[in-house]
Formats: sequence, C-alpha cells, structure tokens
Amino acid sequence: MNTKELDKKYIMNTYGRYNVALKSGKGCTAYDEDGKKYLDVSSGIGVNSLGYCEDGWVNAVSSQLNTIQHMSNYFYCAQASELAEKLCNLTGLSKVCFSNSGAEANECAIKIARKYSFDKYGKGRNEIISLKDSFHGRTVTTLSATGQDNFHNYFFPFTEGFKYAEPNIESVKSLVSDKTCAVLIECVQGEGGVNILDKNFVKDIRALCDEKDIILITDEVQTGIGRTGKLFCYENFEITPDLVTCAKGLGGGLPIGLCICSDKLKDVMQPSTHGSTFAANPAVCAGANYVIEKISDEEFLSEVNKKGEYLKEKLLEIDGIKSVRGLGLMIGIELEKDNAKDISTKCVENGLLIITAKNLLRMLPPLNISYTEIDEAVKILNTTIQEDK
Ligand SMILES: *Cc1c(COP(=O)(O)O)cnc(C)c1O
Repeated sequence: MNTKELDKKYIMNTYGRYNVALKSGKGCTAYDEDGKKYLDVSSGIGVNSLGYCEDGWVNAVSSQLNTIQHMSNYFYCAQASELAEKLCNLTGLSKVCFSNSGAEANECAIKIARKYSFDKYGKGRNEIISLKDSFHGRTVTTLSATGQDNFHNYFFPFTEGFKYAEPNIESVKSLVSDKTCAVLIECVQGEGGVNILDKNFVKDIRALCDEKDIILITDEVQTGIGRTGKLFCYENFEITPDLVTCAKGLGGGLPIGLCICSDKLKDVMQPSTHGSTFAANPAVCAGANYVIEKISDEEFLSEVNKKGEYLKEKLLEIDGIKSVRGLGLMIGIELEKDNAKDISTKCVENGLLIITAKNLLRMLPPLNISYTEIDEAVKILNTTIQEDK
C-alpha cells in the first residue's frame, strides 16, 4: 500500500486532506512523493515560520540532538532558560510556562487566570469571556473556550464557565459579572476567518480588565512570533496582556507551546499545580531560540509588514477576488464566487499549497518568503481563479 492507502486504512479519519503526500522541502518549496514541486504559502499552518529546513535552524536543532535530546523537568535546561529569558526581555513580561501545543498553552493560561482569582477572591470567580468565532484548541476545555457552536458537540459534558461575546465592548460588558476572572481574545482571529479586532475594542477590553482586576489573555498561537509584523500581535493594538499564549510558529516546525505572564501572575503557579513530561525539550527550544533570534530583528519584522502589504496589493489586482484582509503575512482572501475550498484544491493541483479559514482562502507563508516567490504565488492563484471561470 502507498502512503495515502495506509493513511486511510490505519489513521483515524479526523482530517480532510489534500491529495498530496509531501516528502521534502527547502525554503518555500515542497516536493511530494512523485517529485512534483509546490510553492507553499501555508507553512504547515504558520508553523514553518522560516520555511522548510532553514540551514541555521536545522543546525541548531541537530547539534542539540547530538548533545542531549531530553531531560525530565527534575533538571534545569539551558535552552529553555535562554528561551524564557529572551521572551521576557522582548515583551517586558515576567515568566514563562512551557507546554507542547497551542491548546495546552491555552489550558495553562486558563488555569493561571482561574488560580489567580481563586487565591485572591476565593471560590466561584472563575468565568472566562471569549469571543464569537474564536478558536482556542481541541481539548475539552479549549473547545469550551472556542466561541463557535459547532465545536460544542458530541463530547459532553464540556468544561463550564465560558461565555461568548460579540466583538464589541458593550457585549463584553454585558457578560462581565463578579464571577468573571478572565477575557480571552485573538487580536486577529485565525481559524474564525482572519478577523481583525477593532483597535479601540481591544483597548477598551484592556481598560475594563484593569478596572475589575480581570486577567486579559491574548491567544497568539497563530498571530505570534512575527506573523503579523510584530513579535506579538497585541503590539499592533498598543496594549499589554496579562497572559500571552503562543505555539505554532515558535518552534520553526517542532512542537512547542508556552504562555508568558505579567509580573502580577508570576508566582500563581507553584510545584504540583502544572506540568508536562515533554515540555521545554532542549532540541525544540534550541530551534525556537534560533527562530526568535531571527524574527525579533526590527528589520526582519518590517520586511514582514512590507511583504504583507505587497502581497495584499497584488491579490487585489486579481479578477475574481472580492476582498483581502489581514496583518503582516496573515492573510485572508474572499472570493467573488465564494468557493474557497474548491479553489484551494485546484491551487494545490496547480502547485500552490494554500489553506482556507471559514469561506476564505488563507495565506500564512514563511516569514522569509521572497518577493519573487510572492509574485509566483499570486500568479498561480490568478491562473487557478481564471481557469475556474
Ligand atoms: C492552532 C490554534 C490553537 C491550537 O493549537 P494546537 O497546537 O493545534 O493545539 C489555538 N489557538 C489558536 C488561535 C490557533 O490558531
């Protein structure tokens, strides 16, 4: 049996896959098992932030693998300490808690927010307000946190204590009570359709949280690590959250998640309140340190912005594209024919790896994509849309 047949027979059917088995890649280019070449503007859902097999990253990870591949959390780990220090220095936040994925990072943030409230106010102040159309993960609790009804099915009972606001301050305020401990937002909703929150709305949430000692959590699992032209997306909104979660692009292709907290939360978690066997793996952290080193550079980030603007401009010239939205290199494309799923499948056939979000095409290219590659991606997308007319 070939890869696809084995997959269908032995792997649970949880994903709708494109008809491609990827085998290798370099930069923005991937190759399938038949040797067919693809330009990739999805980067494994924003995970391969520096593209496939970037030399420095491969070197950082593999030399760490040749030194020590894992140690338990009974021992100190230099690569994890270094990564935590970098992130705290860059954000002005205070401490980091490591995990292995975005959902776990959000679980940890939820636990910290609830424990902060429990320690200070006692039992019962534990409600968390998230937004409609948000996405926060696939664990039972992060499904609960996700503000989309279709995610609240089958797996009853879900974790209690979540409320879902419309993306305006009146709606948030109407849900706040003396039971509220946190507000959880994505400044740009990813899976929900590349929805950019209004800047004043985000600032108003910050002010409301300050007033009521409510923890503001920004889920930066997709938007973080340079994706929106800042190290973290909240910087675009001129606020500082109390808790930030990140994952996807941080490891450059290896699984890692973490949350970073402000000074007032730094001692909330204590021995036996949280942990993870695999978290803060030295090889993964060595890769993440390399990614952060590259991406936190001001010039690199300003290039992400310029490339994003350039890409949006070129996309808007395509006949058949209705609108384009996004920040940095996180881009959603609305099609006149509203057939994003179809077009994405045809793009893949035509050699462009692109994904969707709701009814949009979504691009999350490697952050170091070149202008030539952007032109090429736009060209394939244009051809595909015109062929479909
Ligand atoms: C992908 C994503 C998650 C879940 O991350 P996993 O690593 O798949 O658990 C959570 N929040 C946001 C905003 C995401 O985009």
